[in-house]
Amino acid sequence: MKCPNCHTREMVIIEMVVSGERVALHSCSSCDLRWWESRDGMLTLSGVLDLATVGR
Ligand SMILES: [Zn+2]
Repeated sequence: MKCPNCHTREMVIIEMVVSGERVALHSCSSCDLRWWESRDGMLTLSGVLDLATVGR
């Protein structure tokens, strides 16, 4: 796994479960790019928020 922006491998990955869906927040230490991934692929922040608000 490398940063798609600057290609460093120095990233912080925080995994969590949102509404039963496992998602991972990737945060690049080098260029500060952040993105979310689920098993379906890359998520936008609004996609994660949609997951988080379902069932509330
Ligand atoms: Zn980067």
